[in-house]
Amino acid sequence: KKTLRYILGDQLNHNHSWFQEKNENVIYFMAETQQETGYVRHHVQKVVAFFLSMRNFASELKEKGHQVIYYEIDDKNNEQDLPANIKKIIEQEHIDHFEYLYPDEYRLDIKLKTICNKLDITSEAYDTEHFYTRREDIEKFFEGKKEMTMEYFYRDMRKKHGIMMLNDKKPEGGEWNYDKSNRKKWTGKPEIPEAKTFDKDVSKVLKQLETMDVKTMGRIDKDNFPWPTSREECLDVLDYFCENLLVHFGDYEDALHTDQKFLFHSRLSFAMNSKMLSPKEVIETTLDYYYDHKEDINISQIEGFIRQILGWREFMRGIYWKEMPGYKSKNELDNTNKLPDFYWTGETDMNCLKHSVNQSLDDAYAHHIQRLMILGNFALLTMTDPDEVDAWYLGVYIDAIEWVELTNTRGMSQFADGGIVATKPYVSSGSYINKMGNYCKSCKYSVSKKEGDDACPFNNLYWNFLYEKQEHFKGNMRMNMMMSLLKKMKKETLDNHINRSREIIKNPDNF
Ligand code: FAD
Ligand code: SF4
Repeated sequence: KKTLRYILGDQLNHNHSWFQEKNENVIYFMAETQQETGYVRHHVQKVVAFFLSMRNFASELKEKGHQVIYYEIDDKNNEQDLPANIKKIIEQEHIDHFEYLYPDEYRLDIKLKTICNKLDITSEAYDTEHFYTRREDIEKFFEGKKEMTMEYFYRDMRKKHGIMMLNDKKPEGGEWNYDKSNRKKWTGKPEIPEAKTFDKDVSKVLKQLETMDVKTMGRIDKDNFPWPTSREECLDVLDYFCENLLVHFGDYEDALHTDQKFLFHSRLSFAMNSKMLSPKEVIETTLDYYYDHKEDINISQIEGFIRQILGWREFMRGIYWKEMPGYKSKNELDNTNKLPDFYWTGETDMNCLKHSVNQSLDDAYAHHIQRLMILGNFALLTMTDPDEVDAWYLGVYIDAIEWVELTNTRGMSQFADGGIVATKPYVSSGSYINKMGNYCKSCKYSVSKKEGDDACPFNNLYWNFLYEKQEHFKGNMRMNMMMSLLKKMKKETLDNHINRSREIIKNPDNF
């Protein structure tokens, strides 16, 4: 039987069992399409990184002796659309059987199922062999339980896979979670090694994007591309993390700083989300490094890192498949405002936002606390429509693929799911931002002020948000303390917060 196997751009798993043996009856097919570049406005570095990684992946398959058909975005045979491309190759190559790997995105899952239903040849779907869990595992794990708490899932994963366990039940070091020691502010020390970049030629692909009129966002430095686009480069980033960054990863996980965009973060999300690296090999490699350097690396650094990948990453994927398709339109707080224009330009006087937006536009990257407690915090406090927030996050970040973007943005950050992912909204006044970093020191606004034109806008927006949304938080125990402070607030003080917030929300780009 002559078989066609289709590989999506985020399915670049070099170790997949498909590729373990050559078969002259199997043709692999990959395509860059305008359909995929056009469903949201992506960051230019994201499109470049995916296309270059796909091209490198296809070349490696060919070098290993597999038969590959690859359409670059400007290939004259490219129909620019998934069903049309597949139909064309099936006819052209006289294919008898079609196979694909389960997509991680709902939209593509439906699309591929529809394509298969319409084919008059047989078809079959296979696992991507990437994640620790299967799509449906979370649903089973939380069956009958009232809340889906990540921590319980994480502990179960540690036990199930024997990761950092003393025996079947006890965690190494005695604690499951060292989150409390992951909250240091970075003040210039310890020194942060220079960020790893790659010397690669991006001019050809940029020219192709221009010719094909692919609309992107963000900026690109042609001489300094920061993202790995081959298996080898991904492994380099992993080694670099182990050797240089792991030692302080946990300590400064939540830190913010004007001069440091990446701090001790691994920047491995693109390598993993494209599947060039598997979570298993990332965890095993970092753990091996930790065991070899136990005298230098505290357990809280490695546990913090493993929790993000074994816990949060798998948890978010499970939630996505459990809750889709309804999740994509959830808006439990009924937020309807437009996202401020400065998210697309970086033009604002609020220093924390200026830094975080400009960094996102320059590098297609912001670390977790910038995404959550600055960019997401402001969007939620200004009661922005989650559709607008999602479109921005899904476009701007190098690692943004719907299964992990949506759950983090609409769920964890915007509380639009009413508390499926987070138990309370991640909102704060300026004092949290000031506690974790130095943005406030060089800001036009004063973080300690709550009144007047130079008061930090977050200080007013925070109380206004609690006031506006109080009905939604009535039954939420974790909000009780803040709600009772709100109730005790002097009317005059509250009126000031509300009035200034209305000004900010009406015209956020003036601030
Ligand atoms: P590190 O800090 O070095 O962490 C290591 C790894 O842990 C990451 O590479 C990632 O794979 C995993 N991880 C950490 N936190 C999470 C999380 N909350 N959910 C899932 N995996 C996690 N991550 C994405 O991969 N794609 C997204 O589109 C995305 N959107 C986000 C949107 C918002 C509003 C927020 C708050 C978070 C988002 N995250 C997303 C999670 C997290 O911010 C990024 O994974 C992380 O910043 C990537 O950088 P890093 O590789 O240097 O991470
Ligand atoms: Fe951001 Fe307010 Fe601090 Fe300025 S003062 S950096 S707006 S938190």
